[in-house]
Amino acid sequence: MPVKAGVIRAGARTTRRGAAENFTGVVFQDPVLTAEPPSRLGGSVVTFTPGARTAWHAHPVGQTLFCISGVGRICFKGEKPQVLNPGDTVNIPPDTLHWHGAAPDRLFSHLALSEVGERGQGTSWGSHVTDAEYNEAPTT
Ligand code: MN
Repeated sequence: MPVKAGVIRAGARTTRRGAAENFTGVVFQDPVLTAEPPSRLGGSVVTFTPGARTAWHAHPVGQTLFCISGVGRICFKGEKPQVLNPGDTVNIPPDTLHWHGAAPDRLFSHLALSEVGERGQGTSWGSHVTDAEYNEAPTT
């Protein structure tokens, strides 16, 4: 069925809590783009409370993060965490292990855009980010 032209009103979205299996701390997700074939692109605005972060994970077709508000962190496996500020864009290549979240003392929101794989495969989740990993001094 073709995508219908129109406006999806803000009130039609349901805010969900990030699942405890995949996140540390309190995280809210607002879906803003649901993939409709032939598109495989989906998007959510994700809001992390201070100290909250994803678990380690990877995306089959990669992911783009656009930072909206607050102060955040992105960390690629084998690297130090990096500070994220509003207006920053993060390119995450396919099958690249990483985590993202808020700074320890700040709220953080980003738009997260990603496609499921050609065979429908979604995000591949790993272990939670430990406090030691999270608290490593970030680069700017
Ligand atoms: Mn990600």
